[in-house]
This record gives sequence, structure tokens and C-alpha cells, in this order.
Amino acid sequence: MPDVDLFVIGAGSGGVRAARIAAGYGASVMIAEEFRVGGTCVIRGCVPKKLLVYAARFADEFEDAAGYGWTVTEPAFDWPTLIANKDREIARLELAYTTNLERAKVAIVKSRAMIVDPHTVKLADGKTVRTKHILIATGAAPSLGKDIEGHAHVISSNEAFHLDELPKRILIQGGGYIAVEFAGIFNGLGSEVTLVYRGDNILRGFDDDLRAHLRTEMEKRGIKIITKRIVEGIEKVDHGLCVELSGHDEVIVDRVMFATGRRPNVKGLGLEAAGVELGMTGGIAVDAYSRTSVSNIYAIGDVTDRLNLTPVAIREGHAFADTVFGNRPTAVDHKNVPTAVFSEPECGAIGLTEAEACRDLPKVDIYKTSFRPMKATLAGRDTRTFMKLVVDGTSDRVFGCHIVGPDAGEMIQLIGIAVKMKATKADFDAVMAVHPTAAEELVTMREKAVSHVRQAAE
Ligand code: FAD
Repeated sequence: MPDVDLFVIGAGSGGVRAARIAAGYGASVMIAEEFRVGGTCVIRGCVPKKLLVYAARFADEFEDAAGYGWTVTEPAFDWPTLIANKDREIARLELAYTTNLERAKVAIVKSRAMIVDPHTVKLADGKTVRTKHILIATGAAPSLGKDIEGHAHVISSNEAFHLDELPKRILIQGGGYIAVEFAGIFNGLGSEVTLVYRGDNILRGFDDDLRAHLRTEMEKRGIKIITKRIVEGIEKVDHGLCVELSGHDEVIVDRVMFATGRRPNVKGLGLEAAGVELGMTGGIAVDAYSRTSVSNIYAIGDVTDRLNLTPVAIREGHAFADTVFGNRPTAVDHKNVPTAVFSEPECGAIGLTEAEACRDLPKVDIYKTSFRPMKATLAGRDTRTFMKLVVDGTSDRVFGCHIVGPDAGEMIQLIGIAVKMKATKADFDAVMAVHPTAAEELVTMREKAVSHVRQAAE
């Protein structure tokens, strides 16, 4: 006889949702967490990151206020106060997550767990639990790349949230969203920031115009972006850390952070013994219902390395519970997921990039605009917002939207509804503008910037 109907490994975004919903369907559920309830998003991801982003943005507000007639005495920033307040908020959220699980009658075990066989899970103290189903929701962890000289000096985003003091100079290696977000945070708070990325431009996978625009804006803010280079070694010197880059350049900084990708937490989980297979990228291979190669073991969230975002992990967790305990088989649609990058300025994107559309569609119309946000005018700030719509030239359907500018994340959430509903450019145009806003540009772009027509094969 099993002890429980469901054993969830990992109390992060996906695991917590799955456990609560399964318990709501009447299943007896146990969840194991080796670190802190809430997982990456709450403890050392989205939430603390956004709080630091808010902190960094005050710098612009103070600066811009003068143009609007305010006299602001020299503002002073205190890193320990920010970190302490952030930690207090994270502790509050952790408690809220714990309480919600307890209210749902989910048994929480604060322990690492591993799979012994498809119906047995072992805890760190050696105790075993028999279970009908297992859900693996162990997330992912920073991957700091190969072992270069001075690797011990490298921090990841995990440590960046807990530094004793704000570094005067920081070098961040990486070009993904975590790298550009932290570059914006440290730059806004007053650090001298150097971003080093091995590729030819930041934010690989995003629309090329968005990438170019963001890079220009980050450089305008004083972030030094070095592409096509990598960090080859780090040496402790009297006045900081000497970072050696490929091409024999050196940069002296106080901190070195790597944001060079994340790998699924699959090590030491007992997957091999249980017969759970991995996919091509090292995540757990699953079908559309998040079922692994073992019929009663499921996996959701970052550990499956599908789309590594919190709302996706939550949706997958919910769909798993509906499928297995709610008698409602539910597959998650991973297409057209809106996403934001909380860089400075912010980015929002959904759907096809211009390059992807040209690859997939015979006729593509591009609409784009770039303008100075109204708030920047009196402030005298040199910044521009960028917006682009990618439209299918045959059906007129909007297949993609890419924005760089203040509130891009808020805008793309709503554009997501239109894109998911298969809105056409004519539908966008039929909507009256809200004036004066930045978002009104999304319904007032009339001139095609370019039309791509694929020549029929001979
Ligand atoms: P997690 O939330 O990582 O939870 C997994 C949990 O399992 C962890 O608590 C871990 O301790 C535990 N665990 C692992 N192994 C075991 C074991 N053997 N036994 C017991 N417990 C175990 N996403 C967004 O959508 N928006 C953002 O703005 C955003 N910002 C981010 C910023 C940063 C710096 C980072 C690192 C990530 C960010 N993400 C963001 C991604 C987001 O945090 C993840 O996609 C999300 O947390 C994945 O949820 P999950 O449930 O799969 O795993």
C-alpha cells in the first residue's frame, strides 16, 4: 500500500501549484524541499530580481525630476538596507507559500529527496516513502561553465542577491536575460558595469532589431558591452580582480558574475535507476502531458528544459494535477508565450521574430517605429522606445510583437491576448488609440517598414 498518492520533489513554482491542485482533487500529497519553499522564482529569481530592478530605476527618477521642476538633493543609496528589506519580503512570501500548502493539507518535508524506484522516494535521513505517483519539479541551477583559472572568484545570480556591499565595478559574463537584467540593476545602483558575451550580440533568440536597440540603449547608459569575447582567467590583485579576456584584454573589477546559462537539476535524483530518460538538452524528457518515460513519474518546469519561465512551470503543474487527479487530460500550449526582460529599458516580446517569420511564411510585412518617450522630453534624457509588429502578408495575422521601452512587460502581456486570439493587423488598426501613451503606437502604425516576399522555387 502506498503512503501517499503523490510525492512532489521540489517546492518551487511548478511543484507548489501541482501539490495544491492535486490535494484539492482529494489526493494525499507530500512535497519535499531541500532549500526554501517557493523555489527559484520567489527566493532567488523573478521576485528578488524585480525588487532590485525597482531599486535601480529610482536613479533615473531622481535625475529626471529636475526637468519637471523638482530640486532633489544629492540622493544616497544604501545597499544593505535594500538587501535587508528584500530579504524580509522574501521571508514573508516563503511563509505565505508554506501556509497555502498546509491549508491545502499537503505534507511538507524540509529535505532533499531522491527516487529509489518508480514507487519509492528516499529522504536525506534515509526514511523512505511509498507513493503512487512521483512529480519531479526540481528546477534548474546556474551553470558556471568550464573551470578556468580563478573560477573560485566567480559568483552566480544566487550570490548576487546577497553581496555584503554594492561592487564599485562588476564584470558580468553572459548575454541572456539574467545577464542584461543584472547589468541594468548594477548600473542603475551606481556600479561600473562591463558585460562580456561570446556571441555577436546580447539576447540571442530575440528579434534582431530588439537586440540591437537594447544594446544601444544599454551603452547610452554607460554599460560597456564587449561581444565575441570570453573570460579566460581571473586573478586576485591588490585593488580587485584582474579579468583576462580572450584577445588579451584585461579588465579590473571588484566582482565577477557569470550568467552563462542554467542546467536542469537532475543529478543525484536516482533517475537512471528508475528508468527516467533525459532529452537532448539534459532536461527530463516528457510528453505533452508532462509524463516521463516511466508511466507514473511526471516532470514539470525548468527540470524539463522546455520554456524556463515561472508562469509556464505553474501552468504545467496545474495541467499535471488536472490530468492525473482531476480526470481532465490537459496538455500545455507552449506557443506564443509572452515574455519580458527587465533590463533598462525593459523588453517585451511574443511570437515570431522577423527572421523566423521570413523562414516560416511566404510573405511577411514588418511595421516598426522608434520614438522618444514623452516623459524623456522635459527630462532631457537621451532614450528611445522601439516597437515592431511582424505580420503575415497573406492572412494579415499578427505573428509577433517586439518592444523595447518603459512598461514593455506590461504591454506585451495584453498584446499576448490579441496574438493568442489570432488578431489581424486590421483588428489592431480598428482599436482607437489611448492618447497620450506609448502603447497607442501599437494601433497606429500604418506604414510598412518592409515587405518580404519569398520567391517561389523554380
Ligand atoms: P524552481 O522554482 O527552481 O523550484 C525547484 C525547487 O526544487 C527548488 O526550491 C529546489 O531547492 C528544489 N529541489 C531541487 N532538487 C531537489 C531535491 N532533490 N529534493 C528536494 N528539493 C529539491 N521567470 C519568469 O517567468 N520571469 C522572471 O522575471 C524570471 N526571472 C528570473 C531571474 C533569475 C535570476 C532566475 C535564476 C530565474 C528567473 N526566472 C524568471 C525563471 C524562474 O525562476 C523559473 O522558470 C521557475 O522558478 C521554474 O520553476 P520550477 O518549479 O521548475 O523550479
